[in-house]
Amino acid sequence: MQSHSAIDPAAALQRTHEWFEVNSGWAPPDEYTLIDWGLEGIGRAPDDCLVAEYGVCRHGLVSWQVVLDDLEDYDATAVRARAER
Ligand SMILES: [Zn+2]
Repeated sequence: MQSHSAIDPAAALQRTHEWFEVNSGWAPPDEYTLIDWGLEGIGRAPDDCLVAEYGVCRHGLVSWQVVLDDLEDYDATAVRARAER
């Protein structure tokens, strides 16, 4: 049985990337906006829903903070892989 209250962060992130592929008109917030949101403990999902800083909106999309943290991890991994060549 599936519960909507149990959120798998990896699945939510995956769903968010799928959302990016089929939607246009979104743009990541600039870093100052992100800092402002972080200070208030809030965030926004890419579809503009108000969520917790590391939250998931009711459509199952993660906040920008989660998306951008994930991209940073990804970039760091890519940079390390390149350096090892
Ligand atoms: Zn939403």
